[in-house]
Amino acid sequence: MNNIKISGIQKTSLIDYPDNIATVLFTQGCNMNCPYCHNPELISETNENEYLNLDNLWEFLDKRSGLIDGVVITGGEPLIQESIYDLLVKIKEYGLLIKLDTNGTNYNLLKKIVENNLIDYIAMDIKGPIKEYDKFCGIKLNKAIIKNIDRSIELLKKSNNIITEMRTTVVPGMHDNNIMKKIAKRVSGVDKFYIQNFRPNKVNNPDFKSKRRYSEEELNEFKNIFKEENVEVQIRN
Ligand code: SF4
Repeated sequence: MNNIKISGIQKTSLIDYPDNIATVLFTQGCNMNCPYCHNPELISETNENEYLNLDNLWEFLDKRSGLIDGVVITGGEPLIQESIYDLLVKIKEYGLLIKLDTNGTNYNLLKKIVENNLIDYIAMDIKGPIKEYDKFCGIKLNKAIIKNIDRSIELLKKSNNIITEMRTTVVPGMHDNNIMKKIAKRVSGVDKFYIQNFRPNKVNNPDFKSKRRYSEEELNEFKNIFKEENVEVQIRN
């Protein structure tokens, strides 16, 4: 576990774990390359800076126990590092809640984590309709990965012991009513779904800096599409 790549830590966050005070860990590396990614410095598999020394993390959690409710593991894509499993086991020993953010590509690891009750809350990105994923995630995905994403959606829909959130960051020129309808049909049955408005201030592809954000009216139109599919949907603007 000592070789785990965690590039950042936010000691206290009131917003990253709904209704809880949490410490946030940012893992390095992602197997996608979304043009609108808000944490582009975490996409590369390596970082020139030093990674978090886990001994310091345990020392920190020893002191913080009682002051935080949980830990959020985000990235990058946390599940490209198999040793995340051991990290979750160790964090659970502190009696803390765990929220995991994922793109759902490592189905096998996700399943193992879910089956061993290592997480309490999961937020999975749904970039676009399954059959058109490449258009949204910035790289060509092989069939096995696409199947993994689809299986992860199904796994999480059925996981009653975890609060499951799925979310799509909507970008003008990429997501329209037709695309959102396809996503809504696929996620129907999930605990909750968030439509997240795109933020051009920090992005992976500089061309996206000049893109506009969706208006409230347009976001509400998307919201209605999800409601038609009986999805519990909210907007993050
Ligand atoms: S937005 Fe895309 S590229 Fe960025 S961390 Fe998430 S999956 Fe990776």
